[in-house]
Parts: sequence; C-alpha cells; structure tokens
Amino acid sequence: MLKIQMKTPLVEIDGDEMTRIIWDKIKKILLNPYIDLKTDYYDLGIENREITKDIVTKQAAEAIKKYGVGVKCATITPNAERVKEYSLSQMWKSPNGTIRSILDGTVFRAPIMIDGIKPIIPCWQQPIIIARHAYGDVYSGVEKYVPEGGKVYLKFPDGSELLVKELSSSGVIQAMHNSDASIKSFARSCFNFALDKKMDIWFSAKDTISKIYDHRFKDIFEEIFSTEFKEAFSELNINYFYTLIDDAIARVIRSKGGFIWACKNYDGDVMSDMLATAFGSLAMMTSVLVSPEGYYEFEAAHGTVTRHYYNYIKGMETSTNSVATIFAWSGSLRKRGQLDNNNTLIDFASKLENATIETISSGYMTKDLVPLFSKDDIKVVSLNTIDFLYKVQENLNKALFVMK
Ligand code: NAP
Ligand code: MG
Repeated sequence: MLKIQMKTPLVEIDGDEMTRIIWDKIKKILLNPYIDLKTDYYDLGIENREITKDIVTKQAAEAIKKYGVGVKCATITPNAERVKEYSLSQMWKSPNGTIRSILDGTVFRAPIMIDGIKPIIPCWQQPIIIARHAYGDVYSGVEKYVPEGGKVYLKFPDGSELLVKELSSSGVIQAMHNSDASIKSFARSCFNFALDKKMDIWFSAKDTISKIYDHRFKDIFEEIFSTEFKEAFSELNINYFYTLIDDAIARVIRSKGGFIWACKNYDGDVMSDMLATAFGSLAMMTSVLVSPEGYYEFEAAHGTVTRHYYNYIKGMETSTNSVATIFAWSGSLRKRGQLDNNNTLIDFASKLENATIETISSGYMTKDLVPLFSKDDIKVVSLNTIDFLYKVQENLNKALFVMK
C-alpha cells in the first residue's frame, strides 16, 4: 500500500506518563501504517525539560510559529512532589502556560459526542464549544503573602498609585493584567471561529463588579463585533451576545447546545471541565489553541493520567481513554492538510475520527466510558488501552480499504 505523503512537517510535542505511552501506540497503530509521517519532534517529557533547562518548550512553541501547526501530548506541570520524584533542579513552569504565552490566542474545546453517551443535562442536543482566552489574568498574575499587614499599593507608569488595601493584619494580595492587544485577538479569533462553525457566540464576564477590568473585555468585544463582524454574522444568520457570567451559566444549563461560549481565562479553565464532565468525560473533548496569527496547537484537554501510568509501569493492565489524543492528531493532520491542499490527508483525518466514534458507538470502549454508555441491543465490551486502539484500527481499515 502507498502511504499518504505530507508536504510540510507537523510540530510533534511529546509529553509524559500514560499519555506518552498512548502517544507512541497511536503512532504505531493508527498513523505510521498509513502516513509517511513528517514531524519536527520536540521531547517535552519532564526529564528532557530538566536536561534542556526547559529551552525545549520555547523551541517547540517557536517551531509552531515556523510551520503553523503542532500537536501536543499532555505534560507534567511540576509541583513540589514532582520536583522530588524527578530530582528536578527547579519547579519548571507549566509547558502549556509557556507555549500559550508565546503563541497567545484562544483555546477552543468541544465535546466529542457519541451515540449511546447521553449528556448529563438531558436538554443538550448539540455540542457547546468553550472558547477560552489563553493569555493573562490570574495565570500570569503576581501575588504575595503579607505577614505583617500594612498598606499595599499598585504603582503605575505615570507615577500615580492606587491603594489596594490597608491590611490590619496578615493577608494575601494579588495583581493581574491583560492587554488590549490580547483581548482584541481573543475577540477576533472567537468571531472568526463562530463564522467558521456557523454557530452563535456568547461572551460572558462580570462587568457589574469588575467595572474597569471585565468591562474592558466587554467593550472590546462589542467594538470589534460591530465594526468588523456584524455584517458577516447577519449574512449567516448567526448572533453574538454578551451576558453576565452568572446569567450565562443559567442559560447554558437550560440550552439545547449548538453555540460557542467565550470565557475569560479562569472561567474557561473551570467551565470547560464542567462541560466536559457533563458531556461525558475530559477524555472525550477536543482542544485547540488558535493564535491571532493563525497558528494551531492541538492537544488533549486531560492530564498525563498518573494513576494509570503507575499501574502500567508495575505491569498491570490499564484501560486509559485515548480518544482526546487521537483527535489531537486527527485535528492537526486535517489542519496541515488544509494548509497544504492535501485532500488525502484531510480525508484520512476524518476517517480516523469516524472510526474512533464508530468503535465506541458499536459498544467497544475503555473502562471510563462503560458506566456512561447505554444503547438498545448493544453489548458493551470494556477494552484495555492497547486493544481499544486495535479495535479503532480495524474500523479504520474497513473505512480505508473496503468501503472506498
Ligand atoms: P489527569 O491526568 O487528567 O487525571 C485525573 C483522573 O481523571 C485520572 O486519574 C483518571 O481517573 C481520569 N482520567 C483523565 N484522563 C483520562 C483518560 N484519558 N482515560 C481515563 N481516565 C482519565 O489529571 P491530574 O491527575 O490532575 O494530573 C496528572 C498530571 O497531568 C499532573 O502532573 C498535571 O500537571 C498534568 N496535567 C497536564 C495537562 C496538560 O498537559 N494538558 C492538563 C492537566 C494536568 P481514575 O484515576 O479515576 O481512573
Ligand atoms: Mg481546568
């Protein structure tokens, strides 16, 4: 069989623990037999981040800027325990944080819906896509514990000062920022994504309480919408509206789905986990970072699944869900195909996704999905990590070779 050829390399960013194992198996079972995979490889496994003093993370982000599309495996964000576990010289920063601060942009997360897995909220009939601003706020905030109390000020470039608080005793202080440029690019990528998906978009914040900070987001969204996107939206008969985050949550729960919900960084972080769980699981979610310049980084939304990894290295059987990682690969291959006018690659990406969905909806799945699945006349088969991938391969082969 002739393998599918690629014109431009995909930036491949390897990671840690169970997801690193899955990464390798996906390549061996679902990609290499069909594609002459061309990648620019960066090893962001914690050991190599330590060896390279984390320079490899910045190199990976720069490579995405060079080639336009990357795919990333989940990685450990070290905490004190990890520093000990891996004898790290430093508590290296979150790789996702580093990459996002280099690329800027918005993270779009959408549930992968499967016939047989019903959302916990019965009225949700279509996906709800979260658009999370991936820059600033508390993620690049500064904070300090003030043991003695006292007056704390913010100082500005024009020399003026603002009293944050006069603490009468010990307390904590935090300051955070965002930039007009980043908020504008957030707004533009949200509106462009809505046009692309032909879906309504909501944006929510808390401008009644945060009268300058959150209000700035609201104003920028309104201005960019009315000057740059209003006409295109009305041509497609889709809408934009702003509402308070509390009102948005109430509306989301009662909705039928089928829209994009744009959130500030922290709201998006938390709400995407809530949506993922309510739609099924974090392992059944796609996640892509879209930068204002149009660079794409595809990833799984979940972590490195440490508990499963510890079992794996003890030689025990694992049943780890690989769907989000498969979709990170398929999403990145499709985008690469679109940029290179490579229809065979685009077609392969869709067939891989369909084969994955078909595998689960016909009853074959990893353990985490078993309690969520129910479909008349379908017997559920719980598979281990590797057998699930072989089952997907079986369906992929049918789609590629028989049904042509
Ligand atoms: P996690 O790896 O997402 O796992 C939390 C739990 O969720 C797992 O123990 C497992 O539950 C379940 N789970 C998650 N993904 C699953 C999958 N694909 N298949 C089956 N079950 C799955 O989160 P964490 O334990 O908080 O974090 C572990 C490490 O990942 C940390 O070092 C953290 O820094 C890192 N992390 C990385 C990213 C990223 O790179 N994108 C994101 C989040 C966390 P059961 O144990 O009950 O089976
Ligand atoms: Mg989160």
